[in-house]
Amino acid sequence: MSKRVLIMNTGGTLASVAKEHGLTPGLTTESMERELHIVAGEAQLTMQEFSSLDSANIFPEDWARLAQAISLQREYFDGVVVIHGTDTLAYTSSMLSYMLQNINIPVVITGSQLSISNPVADAMENLRCAIYMAQSGCPGVFVAFNRKVMLGCRASKVRSLSFDAFDSINCENVAEISSIGMKINRRMLPVKKGVFKLQDRYCPDVAVIKLFPGMHREVLRMYAEKGYKAFYIEAFGLGGMPFLKHDFISEIRSLIENGATFLVGTQCRFEGSSLEVYETGRRALEAGAIQAYDMTSEAAVTKLMWVLGQTEDPQEIREYFHLSLCGEVSIT
Ligand code: ASP
Repeated sequence: MSKRVLIMNTGGTLASVAKEHGLTPGLTTESMERELHIVAGEAQLTMQEFSSLDSANIFPEDWARLAQAISLQREYFDGVVVIHGTDTLAYTSSMLSYMLQNINIPVVITGSQLSISNPVADAMENLRCAIYMAQSGCPGVFVAFNRKVMLGCRASKVRSLSFDAFDSINCENVAEISSIGMKINRRMLPVKKGVFKLQDRYCPDVAVIKLFPGMHREVLRMYAEKGYKAFYIEAFGLGGMPFLKHDFISEIRSLIENGATFLVGTQCRFEGSSLEVYETGRRALEAGAIQAYDMTSEAAVTKLMWVLGQTEDPQEIREYFHLSLCGEVSIT
């Protein structure tokens, strides 16, 4: 029996047309229907318009709406494909991974570097891969791009122009398409840990701070005074930060004592943090910072938002970060 796949369109380059102010999303699933059917194979497609946005204009409330819409439809479809702009796609796929934990069907997010209306675009290949994965019967939230399927919480946009725009960071691909067809790496599939329940609450009061030598520690207090509750610090190397001259560590200690949450990771894209190794990291742990290990920056900031939407209790927040909810982190 043919599988039922829901295609939800949020916009992005895949659905873009050239206009006076540059490329802008404008194609509906209806106008893309012919192309979508070409790549659908046996699948029975249903189209749903969600938005028509460049993904720079996607906000946390859109993640919650998207999660709600998918949750409502999950009983009627074997899989869902979300068409999304590539620029913030990895934030959306990370947040959906948390909000839709234990979902019973595949939810596959894709986009492209060129519009589907361009005859040399990557759009058809990416959609083909996404629609195929959506029929796989493997539940979870995934990103399909350039003939690879990645965990939604591990994907990151690493190239701004190439068709190979996304990599799975610190984690193997879930599937790849080659001349032998789609090969699913079953070890990498998310493990279902319970019954599905939509968990769409989040707290947007999160700041991301990328350290640089000479950065003033007052920056942290400025954010805190504006009401930011949690910080993701992209620290140096294995997760180090200064405690001489610009003493970030004592600033962090005092903000944590006043109820702020600090998650500390690394600026290095690959291999993650290990704050215990150097004094510059260990002191941050002693001050009460939580370690991000090998999470992507997208997975880290969205996890902070999501966790703060579940609890405000500092101990419970810490416990969430000692767990991998959907494969987003390897804790060493
Ligand atoms: N600016 C576009 C977007 O993110 C880029 C793309 O889709 O590739 O919506």
